[in-house]
Amino acid sequence: MIGHPREDLAAYAIGALEPPDRTAVDEHLRTCAPCRADAEAFGANAYALRVHTERLVVLPEGVSARLAAAVMLQGITAHYLAMDTYPIAPGERCLIHAGAES
Ligand SMILES: [Zn+2]
Repeated sequence: MIGHPREDLAAYAIGALEPPDRTAVDEHLRTCAPCRADAEAFGANAYALRVHTERLVVLPEGVSARLAAAVMLQGITAHYLAMDTYPIAPGERCLIHAGAES
């Protein structure tokens, strides 16, 4: 593992990582006190991360939890911009544009 797995710590805390990712985070946490503290803090708040099963999304085969979370976040952002920030009326046009970086 290269660097700190900050983006995986919340998923780690609630047991949502795939086994290879979980093993990599386990190994990192053995030697990194700051990440271990963050993982423990996420774990302490894990109740807030749990959702009702009817709100879960079943991931298609081959789609990682990380990719699915990124896609869902993009969709949620577009939804609130189009529905709350500026409610788009019938007949209006909009362009929803997102940049990506790796
Ligand atoms: Zn670390």
